Amino acid sequence: MSSMPPADTPRIEPAPSPGTLSLVTPGTPFRALGNTGRERFRRALSRSASRRGSPVAAEADAIYDVLAPRGLTRLGAAMAWIERRNETNDADLVYYGRDLHNLWAVKRPDGGWRSYPSYAAAARDWAEHVLGPVYADLVTLGELVARYAPWSDGNNPTHYGEKAAREINALPLQEEDPMPPPDQDLPPPTLAARHPSPTVYDLRNDAHAARFGLTPAERDRIVAKKIAGRDGRRPEAIGLHVQWGHTSGSLRHWLGVEASATVMVQRDGSILRVIPEGDGPWTQGDVKNPGPRARALLDRFGADPNVYSLTIEAEDERTEQITETQTRTILWQIREWQRSWPALADPERILGHYEINSVDRARCGRYRDAIVRELLAGGPSPAPVSEPEPEFPGLPPWLPVDGLRAAFPLADPRGAVTGALIAWIAEHGRLPYFLEKRDLGGGRNVWRFDLVTLFNDGPRVWGEGDTLT
Ligand SMILES: [Zn+2]
Repeated sequence: MSSMPPADTPRIEPAPSPGTLSLVTPGTPFRALGNTGRERFRRALSRSASRRGSPVAAEADAIYDVLAPRGLTRLGAAMAWIERRNETNDADLVYYGRDLHNLWAVKRPDGGWRSYPSYAAAARDWAEHVLGPVYADLVTLGELVARYAPWSDGNNPTHYGEKAAREINALPLQEEDPMPPPDQDLPPPTLAARHPSPTVYDLRNDAHAARFGLTPAERDRIVAKKIAGRDGRRPEAIGLHVQWGHTSGSLRHWLGVEASATVMVQRDGSILRVIPEGDGPWTQGDVKNPGPRARALLDRFGADPNVYSLTIEAEDERTEQITETQTRTILWQIREWQRSWPALADPERILGHYEINSVDRARCGRYRDAIVRELLAGGPSPAPVSEPEPEFPGLPPWLPVDGLRAAFPLADPRGAVTGALIAWIAEHGRLPYFLEKRDLGGGRNVWRFDLVTLFNDGPRVWGEGDTLT
Protein backbone atom coordinates (compact mmCIF):
# COMPACT_ATOMS: atom_id res chain seq x y z
CA MET A 1 0.00 0.00 0.00
CA SER A 2 1.45 3.26 -0.97
CA SER A 3 2.07 6.47 0.82
CA MET A 4 3.07 9.67 -0.92
CA PRO A 5 6.74 9.90 -1.86
CA PRO A 6 8.92 11.93 0.45
CA ALA A 7 9.97 15.17 -1.20
CA ASP A 8 13.28 15.45 -2.99
CA THR A 9 14.07 11.74 -3.32
CA PRO A 10 16.88 10.53 -5.56
CA ARG A 11 16.36 8.46 -8.70
CA ILE A 12 16.58 4.75 -8.10
CA GLU A 13 19.30 2.78 -9.79
CA PRO A 14 18.63 -0.58 -11.48
CA ALA A 15 18.52 -3.61 -9.22
CA PRO A 16 22.00 -4.89 -8.46
CA SER A 17 22.91 -8.46 -9.32
CA PRO A 18 21.58 -10.90 -6.76
CA GLY A 19 25.09 -12.21 -6.17
CA THR A 20 25.34 -14.97 -3.60
CA LEU A 21 22.37 -14.11 -1.44
CA SER A 22 21.08 -17.57 -0.73
CA LEU A 23 18.86 -17.24 2.32
CA VAL A 24 16.59 -14.21 2.42
CA THR A 25 15.80 -12.56 5.77
CA PRO A 26 13.96 -9.32 6.56
CA GLY A 27 17.45 -7.77 6.56
CA THR A 28 18.14 -8.64 2.90
CA PRO A 29 18.22 -5.66 0.49
CA PHE A 30 14.89 -5.80 -1.32
CA ARG A 31 16.31 -4.60 -4.65
CA ALA A 32 18.74 -7.54 -4.69
CA LEU A 33 16.22 -10.37 -4.26
CA GLY A 34 16.57 -11.33 -7.90
CA ASN A 35 14.65 -13.71 -10.13
CA THR A 36 13.39 -17.21 -9.84
CA GLY A 37 12.89 -19.36 -12.95
CA ARG A 38 9.86 -18.87 -15.17
CA GLU A 39 8.33 -22.24 -14.26
CA ARG A 40 8.71 -21.63 -10.52
CA PHE A 41 7.15 -18.23 -10.93
CA ARG A 42 4.27 -19.63 -12.96
CA ARG A 43 3.55 -22.18 -10.27
CA ALA A 44 3.69 -19.58 -7.51
CA LEU A 45 1.16 -17.38 -9.32
CA SER A 46 -1.05 -20.39 -10.08
CA ARG A 47 -1.69 -21.05 -6.41
CA SER A 48 -5.19 -20.52 -5.17
CA ALA A 49 -6.59 -20.09 -1.70
CA SER A 50 -9.81 -21.80 -2.76
CA ARG A 51 -10.71 -24.63 -5.09
CA ARG A 52 -11.00 -22.20 -7.97
CA GLY A 53 -8.09 -21.86 -10.33
CA SER A 54 -6.12 -18.67 -10.01
CA PRO A 55 -7.17 -16.10 -12.62
CA VAL A 56 -3.61 -14.79 -12.42
CA ALA A 57 -2.19 -18.03 -13.86
CA ALA A 58 -3.15 -17.15 -17.42
CA GLU A 59 -0.97 -14.04 -17.25
CA ALA A 60 1.97 -15.57 -15.40
CA ASP A 61 4.27 -15.41 -18.43
CA ALA A 62 3.40 -11.83 -19.26
CA ILE A 63 3.90 -10.80 -15.63
CA TYR A 64 7.24 -12.63 -15.55
CA ASP A 65 8.39 -10.67 -18.61
CA VAL A 66 7.51 -7.42 -16.87
CA LEU A 67 9.20 -8.21 -13.55
CA ALA A 68 12.24 -10.25 -14.62
CA PRO A 69 14.19 -7.38 -16.26
CA ARG A 70 13.83 -5.51 -12.95
CA GLY A 71 14.90 -8.47 -10.80
CA LEU A 72 11.54 -8.52 -9.06
CA THR A 73 10.02 -11.94 -9.81
CA ARG A 74 10.72 -13.41 -6.36
CA LEU A 75 9.49 -10.36 -4.47
CA GLY A 76 6.53 -9.97 -6.83
CA ALA A 77 5.33 -13.55 -6.45
CA ALA A 78 5.73 -13.45 -2.66
CA MET A 79 3.94 -10.15 -2.15
CA ALA A 80 1.15 -11.02 -4.57
CA TRP A 81 0.42 -14.16 -2.55
CA ILE A 82 0.50 -12.35 0.77
CA GLU A 83 -1.51 -9.34 -0.39
CA ARG A 84 -4.06 -10.97 -2.62
CA ARG A 85 -4.34 -14.69 -1.99
CA ASN A 86 -8.00 -13.96 -1.64
CA GLU A 87 -7.93 -12.95 -5.31
CA THR A 88 -8.94 -16.55 -5.91
CA ASN A 89 -10.90 -17.15 -2.72
CA ASP A 90 -14.61 -16.70 -3.37
CA ALA A 91 -15.38 -16.65 0.33
CA ASP A 92 -13.03 -13.80 1.14
CA LEU A 93 -13.49 -11.05 -1.41
CA VAL A 94 -14.23 -8.44 1.18
CA TYR A 95 -12.12 -5.52 0.02
CA TYR A 96 -12.49 -5.25 -3.71
CA GLY A 97 -13.34 -7.25 -6.76
CA ARG A 98 -11.11 -9.18 -9.10
CA ASP A 99 -12.07 -6.75 -11.84
CA LEU A 100 -9.52 -4.28 -10.41
CA HIS A 101 -6.66 -6.72 -11.21
CA ASN A 102 -4.92 -5.11 -8.24
CA LEU A 103 -2.73 -8.06 -7.35
CA TRP A 104 -0.37 -6.05 -5.13
CA ALA A 105 -2.96 -3.94 -3.34
CA VAL A 106 -1.53 -0.63 -4.53
CA LYS A 107 -3.46 2.45 -3.51
CA ARG A 108 -3.98 5.73 -5.26
CA PRO A 109 -2.67 8.88 -3.58
CA ASP A 110 -6.24 9.56 -2.40
CA GLY A 111 -6.33 6.19 -0.61
CA GLY A 112 -8.61 4.33 -3.05
CA TRP A 113 -7.58 1.11 -4.79
CA ARG A 114 -5.95 1.33 -8.16
CA SER A 115 -7.60 -0.46 -11.08
CA TYR A 116 -5.82 -2.08 -14.04
CA PRO A 117 -6.91 -3.57 -17.36
CA SER A 118 -4.81 -6.71 -16.68
CA TYR A 119 -2.54 -8.29 -14.09
CA ALA A 120 0.42 -7.61 -16.37
CA ALA A 121 -0.43 -3.91 -16.34
CA ALA A 122 -0.67 -4.09 -12.55
CA ALA A 123 2.79 -5.70 -12.47
CA ARG A 124 4.26 -2.85 -14.49
CA ASP A 125 2.81 -0.25 -12.14
CA TRP A 126 3.79 -2.17 -9.00
CA ALA A 127 7.39 -2.57 -10.22
CA GLU A 128 7.70 1.16 -10.85
CA HIS A 129 6.08 1.81 -7.50
CA VAL A 130 8.43 -0.45 -5.52
CA LEU A 131 11.58 0.75 -7.30
CA GLY A 132 10.41 4.35 -7.40
CA PRO A 133 10.56 7.35 -5.12
CA VAL A 134 8.17 6.08 -2.45
CA TYR A 135 10.76 3.57 -1.19
CA ALA A 136 13.92 5.24 -2.51
CA ASP A 137 15.33 5.86 0.97
CA LEU A 138 14.90 2.24 2.11
CA VAL A 139 17.25 -0.71 1.77
CA THR A 140 15.98 -3.90 3.42
CA LEU A 141 12.96 -6.12 2.85
CA GLY A 142 11.85 -5.44 6.41
CA GLU A 143 11.93 -1.67 5.85
CA LEU A 144 10.01 -2.05 2.60
CA VAL A 145 7.33 -4.12 4.29
CA ALA A 146 7.00 -1.70 7.20
CA ARG A 147 6.18 1.13 4.81
CA TYR A 148 4.28 -0.97 2.25
CA ALA A 149 2.03 -2.61 4.83
CA PRO A 150 2.18 -0.31 7.86
CA TRP A 151 0.62 -0.74 11.30
CA SER A 152 -1.80 2.00 10.39
CA ASP A 153 -3.39 -0.30 7.83
CA GLY A 154 -3.87 -3.03 10.42
CA ASN A 155 -0.79 -5.06 9.46
CA ASN A 156 1.90 -6.51 11.66
CA PRO A 157 5.10 -5.58 9.82
CA THR A 158 7.22 -8.09 11.73
CA HIS A 159 5.00 -11.01 10.78
CA TYR A 160 4.67 -9.66 7.25
CA GLY A 161 8.45 -9.39 6.87
CA GLU A 162 9.00 -12.95 8.10
CA LYS A 163 6.21 -14.24 5.88
CA ALA A 164 7.67 -12.42 2.89
CA ALA A 165 11.14 -13.85 3.53
CA ARG A 166 9.65 -17.36 3.84
CA GLU A 167 7.73 -16.97 0.58
CA ILE A 168 10.82 -15.68 -1.24
CA ASN A 169 13.01 -18.50 0.07
CA ALA A 170 10.52 -20.96 -1.42
CA LEU A 171 11.42 -19.53 -4.85
CA PRO A 172 15.08 -20.39 -5.54
CA LEU A 173 17.22 -17.93 -7.41
CA GLN A 174 17.27 -18.84 -11.08
CA GLU A 175 21.07 -19.19 -11.01
CA GLU A 176 20.87 -21.75 -8.19
CA ASP A 177 17.99 -23.72 -9.71
CA PRO A 178 19.03 -25.15 -13.08
CA MET A 179 15.80 -27.06 -13.71
CA PRO A 180 12.64 -27.21 -11.62
CA PRO A 181 11.60 -30.74 -10.66
CA PRO A 182 8.95 -32.37 -12.87
CA ASP A 183 5.33 -31.49 -12.17
CA GLN A 184 4.75 -32.80 -8.70
CA ASP A 185 3.03 -30.17 -6.60
CA LEU A 186 0.99 -28.58 -9.35
CA PRO A 187 -2.15 -26.72 -8.36
CA PRO A 188 -5.55 -28.00 -9.49
CA PRO A 189 -6.12 -27.56 -13.23
CA THR A 190 -6.77 -24.00 -14.22
CA LEU A 191 -7.84 -22.43 -17.48
CA ALA A 192 -4.17 -22.02 -18.35
CA ALA A 193 -3.33 -25.59 -17.42
CA ARG A 194 -6.13 -27.05 -19.51
CA HIS A 195 -4.84 -25.06 -22.46
CA PRO A 196 -1.10 -25.23 -21.98
CA SER A 197 0.97 -22.33 -23.25
CA PRO A 198 3.51 -23.09 -25.95
CA THR A 199 7.07 -23.95 -25.01
CA VAL A 200 8.93 -20.68 -24.57
CA TYR A 201 12.68 -20.33 -24.97
CA ASP A 202 14.54 -17.15 -24.15
CA LEU A 203 17.70 -16.24 -26.01
CA ARG A 204 19.09 -14.57 -22.87
CA ASN A 205 19.33 -18.03 -21.31
CA ASP A 206 22.70 -19.60 -22.28
CA ALA A 207 21.26 -23.10 -22.62
CA HIS A 208 18.44 -21.85 -24.84
CA ALA A 209 20.87 -19.84 -26.96
CA ALA A 210 22.98 -22.98 -27.39
CA ARG A 211 19.90 -24.90 -28.48
CA PHE A 212 19.68 -22.51 -31.43
CA GLY A 213 23.38 -22.71 -32.15
CA LEU A 214 24.64 -19.50 -30.51
CA THR A 215 27.50 -19.04 -28.06
CA PRO A 216 26.82 -16.55 -25.26
CA ALA A 217 29.05 -13.99 -27.05
CA GLU A 218 27.12 -14.39 -30.30
CA ARG A 219 23.86 -14.16 -28.40
CA ASP A 220 25.01 -10.93 -26.78
CA ARG A 221 25.61 -9.41 -30.21
CA ILE A 222 22.10 -10.27 -31.39
CA VAL A 223 20.24 -9.08 -28.31
CA ALA A 224 21.97 -5.70 -28.73
CA LYS A 225 20.24 -5.22 -32.11
CA LYS A 226 17.37 -3.15 -30.81
CA ILE A 227 15.98 0.30 -30.11
CA ALA A 228 16.58 0.44 -26.36
CA GLY A 229 13.46 1.39 -24.44
CA ARG A 230 11.61 2.11 -27.71
CA ASP A 231 12.69 5.76 -27.41
CA GLY A 232 10.15 6.08 -24.62
CA ARG A 233 7.26 4.74 -26.73
CA ARG A 234 5.12 1.66 -26.17
CA PRO A 235 4.04 -1.15 -28.51
CA GLU A 236 1.35 0.09 -30.89
CA ALA A 237 1.48 -2.55 -33.64
CA ILE A 238 2.29 -6.20 -34.32
CA GLY A 239 4.31 -7.19 -37.39
CA LEU A 240 4.10 -10.71 -38.87
CA HIS A 241 6.95 -12.24 -40.87
CA VAL A 242 8.35 -15.45 -42.28
CA GLN A 243 12.05 -16.19 -42.08
CA TRP A 244 12.68 -17.83 -45.45
CA GLY A 245 14.32 -20.63 -43.50
CA HIS A 246 14.84 -21.84 -39.94
CA THR A 247 15.46 -20.00 -36.68
CA SER A 248 19.04 -21.18 -36.13
CA GLY A 249 19.94 -20.14 -39.69
CA SER A 250 18.18 -16.78 -39.32
CA LEU A 251 19.99 -16.04 -36.07
CA ARG A 252 23.33 -16.84 -37.73
CA HIS A 253 22.36 -14.53 -40.61
CA TRP A 254 21.43 -11.76 -38.16
CA LEU A 255 24.95 -11.85 -36.70
CA GLY A 256 26.11 -10.19 -39.90
CA VAL A 257 23.25 -7.79 -40.61
CA GLU A 258 21.15 -5.21 -38.81
CA ALA A 259 18.19 -7.43 -38.02
CA SER A 260 16.32 -8.95 -35.06
CA ALA A 261 12.76 -9.67 -33.90
CA THR A 262 10.76 -9.68 -30.70
CA VAL A 263 10.08 -13.42 -30.97
CA MET A 264 10.65 -16.28 -33.40
CA VAL A 265 8.17 -19.12 -33.80
CA GLN A 266 9.48 -22.55 -34.79
CA ARG A 267 7.75 -25.22 -36.90
CA ASP A 268 7.02 -27.18 -33.69
CA GLY A 269 5.08 -24.24 -32.25
CA SER A 270 7.72 -23.21 -29.71
CA ILE A 271 8.59 -19.55 -29.18
CA LEU A 272 12.05 -18.05 -28.87
CA ARG A 273 12.10 -14.66 -27.17
CA VAL A 274 14.86 -12.54 -28.73
CA ILE A 275 14.36 -8.82 -28.06
CA PRO A 276 12.49 -7.82 -24.86
CA GLU A 277 9.05 -6.33 -25.40
CA GLY A 278 10.17 -3.04 -23.89
CA ASP A 279 12.71 -2.55 -26.70
CA GLY A 280 12.11 -2.03 -30.42
CA PRO A 281 13.26 -4.91 -32.69
CA TRP A 282 15.06 -4.28 -35.95
CA THR A 283 12.59 -6.17 -38.13
CA GLN A 284 10.59 -3.93 -40.38
CA GLY A 285 12.09 -0.48 -40.71
CA ASP A 286 12.34 -0.93 -44.49
CA VAL A 287 9.25 1.05 -45.46
CA LYS A 288 8.63 0.98 -49.21
CA ASN A 289 5.34 1.79 -50.89
CA PRO A 290 3.28 0.84 -47.80
CA GLY A 291 -0.31 -0.37 -47.99
CA PRO A 292 -3.21 1.60 -46.45
CA ARG A 293 -3.11 -0.15 -43.07
CA ALA A 294 0.63 0.46 -42.70
CA ARG A 295 0.23 4.01 -44.03
CA ALA A 296 -2.34 4.80 -41.32
CA LEU A 297 -0.01 3.54 -38.56
CA LEU A 298 3.02 5.36 -39.99
CA ASP A 299 1.03 8.59 -40.15
CA ARG A 300 -0.19 8.15 -36.60
CA PHE A 301 2.86 6.79 -34.76
CA GLY A 302 5.88 7.72 -36.84
CA ALA A 303 8.01 6.80 -39.83
CA ASP A 304 9.99 3.97 -38.19
CA PRO A 305 7.60 1.15 -37.32
CA ASN A 306 10.34 -0.69 -35.37
CA VAL A 307 10.04 1.89 -32.58
CA TYR A 308 6.46 0.85 -31.78
CA SER A 309 6.21 -2.72 -33.13
CA LEU A 310 6.28 -6.17 -31.60
CA THR A 311 7.38 -8.62 -34.28
CA ILE A 312 7.04 -12.34 -34.97
CA GLU A 313 9.40 -14.20 -37.31
CA ALA A 314 7.96 -17.60 -38.21
CA GLU A 315 10.06 -20.44 -39.61
CA ASP A 316 8.78 -21.32 -43.07
CA GLU A 317 11.23 -23.79 -44.63
CA ARG A 318 11.27 -21.41 -47.59
CA THR A 319 7.62 -22.07 -48.35
CA GLU A 320 6.22 -18.73 -47.12
CA GLN A 321 3.65 -20.90 -45.29
CA ILE A 322 3.29 -21.58 -41.59
CA THR A 323 1.98 -24.73 -39.89
CA GLU A 324 -1.23 -25.10 -37.93
CA THR A 325 0.82 -25.45 -34.73
CA GLN A 326 2.57 -22.18 -35.54
CA THR A 327 -0.80 -20.56 -36.16
CA ARG A 328 -1.96 -21.59 -32.67
CA THR A 329 1.22 -20.26 -31.10
CA ILE A 330 1.03 -16.96 -32.99
CA LEU A 331 -2.60 -16.52 -31.91
CA TRP A 332 -1.53 -17.24 -28.31
CA GLN A 333 1.31 -14.71 -28.52
CA ILE A 334 -0.88 -12.01 -30.04
CA ARG A 335 -3.50 -12.52 -27.34
CA GLU A 336 -0.84 -12.27 -24.66
CA TRP A 337 0.28 -8.98 -26.14
CA GLN A 338 -3.29 -7.75 -26.46
CA ARG A 339 -3.75 -8.39 -22.75
CA SER A 340 -0.70 -6.28 -21.93
CA TRP A 341 -1.48 -3.52 -24.44
CA PRO A 342 -5.26 -3.41 -25.01
CA ALA A 343 -4.92 -1.05 -28.01
CA LEU A 344 -3.47 -4.03 -29.92
CA ALA A 345 -6.93 -5.63 -29.89
CA ASP A 346 -7.68 -3.53 -32.96
CA PRO A 347 -6.91 -5.78 -35.98
CA GLU A 348 -5.80 -2.67 -37.89
CA ARG A 349 -2.74 -2.79 -35.58
CA ILE A 350 -1.72 -6.21 -36.96
CA LEU A 351 0.34 -6.08 -40.16
CA GLY A 352 2.06 -8.44 -42.53
CA HIS A 353 5.52 -7.29 -43.60
CA TYR A 354 4.20 -7.11 -47.19
CA GLU A 355 2.03 -4.18 -46.13
CA ILE A 356 5.03 -2.18 -44.91
CA ASN A 357 7.39 -3.02 -47.78
CA SER A 358 5.33 -4.01 -50.80
CA VAL A 359 8.40 -3.78 -53.03
CA ASP A 360 11.04 -6.17 -51.61
CA ARG A 361 8.94 -8.05 -49.06
CA ALA A 362 5.75 -8.65 -50.99
CA ARG A 363 5.70 -12.33 -49.92
CA CYS A 364 6.47 -11.83 -46.21
CA GLY A 365 3.75 -12.32 -43.60
CA ARG A 366 1.01 -13.24 -46.04
CA TYR A 367 -0.67 -15.26 -43.27
CA ARG A 368 -1.77 -11.99 -41.66
CA ASP A 369 -5.39 -12.09 -42.86
CA ALA A 370 -5.86 -15.71 -41.77
CA ILE A 371 -4.53 -14.85 -38.31
CA VAL A 372 -6.83 -11.86 -37.97
CA ARG A 373 -9.82 -13.95 -39.07
CA GLU A 374 -9.01 -16.50 -36.35
CA LEU A 375 -8.56 -13.75 -33.78
CA LEU A 376 -11.96 -12.28 -34.60
CA ALA A 377 -13.58 -15.71 -34.59
CA GLY A 378 -12.06 -16.51 -31.18
CA GLY A 379 -10.33 -19.73 -32.30
CA PRO A 380 -8.73 -22.14 -32.68
CA SER A 381 -6.48 -21.46 -29.70
CA PRO A 382 -8.25 -20.92 -26.37
CA ALA A 383 -9.88 -17.56 -25.90
CA PRO A 384 -8.04 -15.43 -23.38
CA VAL A 385 -9.52 -14.75 -19.99
CA SER A 386 -11.82 -11.92 -20.97
CA GLU A 387 -10.63 -8.52 -19.87
CA PRO A 388 -13.33 -5.92 -19.47
CA GLU A 389 -12.67 -2.49 -20.91
CA PRO A 390 -13.10 -0.47 -17.73
CA GLU A 391 -13.42 2.98 -19.20
CA PHE A 392 -15.60 2.89 -22.28
CA PRO A 393 -17.41 6.17 -22.63
CA GLY A 394 -21.09 6.14 -23.36
CA LEU A 395 -21.58 2.50 -22.44
CA PRO A 396 -25.16 1.50 -21.64
CA PRO A 397 -25.07 0.21 -18.06
CA TRP A 398 -26.68 -3.15 -18.96
CA LEU A 399 -24.26 -3.97 -21.77
CA PRO A 400 -22.39 -7.23 -21.05
CA VAL A 401 -18.86 -5.96 -20.68
CA ASP A 402 -17.35 -9.40 -21.36
CA GLY A 403 -18.87 -9.31 -24.83
CA LEU A 404 -17.48 -5.91 -25.58
CA ARG A 405 -14.28 -6.87 -27.30
CA ALA A 406 -16.07 -9.39 -29.52
CA ALA A 407 -18.74 -6.87 -30.36
CA PHE A 408 -16.44 -3.93 -31.01
CA PRO A 409 -13.24 -5.39 -32.35
CA LEU A 410 -12.44 -2.22 -34.23
CA ALA A 411 -13.91 0.21 -31.78
CA ASP A 412 -12.34 3.57 -31.27
CA PRO A 413 -13.90 4.58 -27.95
CA ARG A 414 -14.42 8.14 -29.11
CA GLY A 415 -15.14 7.32 -32.72
CA ALA A 416 -18.33 8.21 -34.56
CA VAL A 417 -19.00 4.62 -35.66
CA THR A 418 -18.68 3.32 -32.11
CA GLY A 419 -20.98 6.07 -30.89
CA ALA A 420 -23.58 5.19 -33.53
CA LEU A 421 -23.30 1.51 -32.68
CA ILE A 422 -23.81 2.16 -28.98
CA ALA A 423 -26.85 4.29 -29.79
CA TRP A 424 -28.22 1.45 -31.90
CA ILE A 425 -27.66 -1.03 -29.04
CA ALA A 426 -29.36 1.27 -26.57
CA GLU A 427 -32.37 1.59 -28.87
CA HIS A 428 -32.70 -2.09 -29.80
CA GLY A 429 -31.49 -3.79 -26.65
CA ARG A 430 -29.41 -6.30 -28.61
CA LEU A 431 -25.66 -6.81 -29.02
CA PRO A 432 -24.44 -7.00 -32.63
CA TYR A 433 -21.24 -8.83 -33.53
CA PHE A 434 -18.77 -7.39 -35.99
CA LEU A 435 -18.46 -9.07 -39.40
CA GLU A 436 -16.43 -6.76 -41.64
CA LYS A 437 -15.42 -3.23 -42.54
CA ARG A 438 -15.35 -2.25 -46.20
CA ASP A 439 -13.53 0.87 -47.33
CA LEU A 440 -15.25 2.78 -50.09
CA GLY A 441 -12.47 5.31 -50.56
CA GLY A 442 -12.49 9.00 -49.73
CA GLY A 443 -12.78 8.31 -46.01
CA ARG A 444 -16.11 6.53 -46.47
CA ASN A 445 -16.65 3.01 -45.19
CA VAL A 446 -19.25 0.39 -44.39
CA TRP A 447 -19.20 -1.50 -41.09
CA ARG A 448 -21.18 -4.72 -41.26
CA PHE A 449 -22.40 -6.33 -38.03
CA ASP A 450 -24.67 -9.36 -37.84
CA LEU A 451 -27.66 -7.28 -36.76
CA VAL A 452 -27.04 -3.94 -38.41
CA THR A 453 -24.94 -2.25 -41.08
CA LEU A 454 -23.46 1.20 -40.46
CA PHE A 455 -22.38 3.64 -43.16
CA ASN A 456 -19.74 6.21 -42.37
CA ASP A 457 -19.08 9.01 -44.82
CA GLY A 458 -16.78 10.91 -42.48
CA PRO A 459 -18.96 13.63 -40.97
CA ARG A 460 -21.99 11.34 -40.65
CA VAL A 461 -22.78 7.77 -39.61
CA TRP A 462 -26.11 6.16 -40.21
CA GLY A 463 -27.47 2.64 -39.92
CA GLU A 464 -29.61 0.37 -41.99
CA GLY A 465 -32.17 -1.58 -39.99
CA ASP A 466 -31.88 -5.14 -38.80
CA THR A 467 -30.45 -7.56 -41.31
CA LEU A 468 -31.87 -10.38 -39.17
CA THR A 469 -35.48 -10.38 -38.13
ZN1 LIG B 1 9.53 -9.80 -43.03
